[in-house]
Amino acid sequence: MRRLPVYILIDCSESMAGEPIDAVQRGLDAMLQQLRRNPHALESVCISVITFDARAKVAVPLTELSDFNIPVLSIKPGTALGAALKLLAERIKRDVQKTTTEIKGDYRPIVFLLTDGQPTDEWESAANTLKKVNPKLANIYAIGCGKEIDFSVLTQITDIAYHIKEVSSEMIAKFFIWMSASVQSMSQGADVPISLEKSPFAESGGFDLIDPDNLPLRSDVPLQIFLHCRCINTHKFYMMRYVFVEEYKVYLAKSVHVLPDDFFSEGRGVSPAVSSELLYGSIPCPFCANTSWAQCGNCGQIMCDPDPTPPQIQCPSCQVILNVGSGTAFEVTRSSG
Ligand SMILES: [Zn+2]
Ligand SMILES: [Zn+2]
Repeated sequence: MRRLPVYILIDCSESMAGEPIDAVQRGLDAMLQQLRRNPHALESVCISVITFDARAKVAVPLTELSDFNIPVLSIKPGTALGAALKLLAERIKRDVQKTTTEIKGDYRPIVFLLTDGQPTDEWESAANTLKKVNPKLANIYAIGCGKEIDFSVLTQITDIAYHIKEVSSEMIAKFFIWMSASVQSMSQGADVPISLEKSPFAESGGFDLIDPDNLPLRSDVPLQIFLHCRCINTHKFYMMRYVFVEEYKVYLAKSVHVLPDDFFSEGRGVSPAVSSELLYGSIPCPFCANTSWAQCGNCGQIMCDPDPTPPQIQCPSCQVILNVGSGTAFEVTRSSG
């Protein structure tokens, strides 16, 4: 029996925190249920999930549909896209049965890459290998989710890259429906996946096919900034997301997300600091509702802070007692996204 290997690459960096990662988790579940109802898919489809944050890892090795268990996705700092592509190429070479004179091998694998950030590692050589190698290792579909996409990255990996402008559960669900339909049609012998533009939900819009010769303009400053904060009362970690406001060239506090306990287990992911002068507003601490934040002058930890700030507070990370200064701008440690 010829197998149809399907690889799903999922960006689990912090810019996916909140609704996007939850929606992808639900999308995987819906896709699996859909495929299991299709006898052709059940016979031939094998799925592997590769996740990437600061590192890439095989969350589920290539597994038959009937035995597949959905991995639990959780976010971490960093976007190691290059490592993920390298791992993908290695796994395909290892997993996929080639056609020889004696046997008809597996179908050409289909790859769905979901990412919403900018890579934080060297990715060009891996992208180049995947795109230039002949015959092609796989049919690759890249799906850029959100506003801070470097489109040139996606189009250097594959000719077929889509952009979801507003990442909502509904849009992610639609993409997974399309992914399932494509996999089903390929498991019945079609050569290429169903074109998204011709799929039933195309008319409701919300996505674009990215034209490599006409890339949308993007700003050269990061469009989002993530601060890793710690609650001074509970000592738990959360993340505050600031979004760039083009008109005023500043960042406005947009949301907070509680970070999973293992968030820092593979390092912190560092980016250049940003001046506090560019950051406007604050969202209350999700644990104790303190409305402001401050940065430790000793260890650099950002912490929630009551407003008005008492004369002394204790850093939840290095335990140093801080005399609170105010009014002067300082450099804030931000993370890599
Ligand atoms: Zn707090
Ligand atoms: Zn400290």
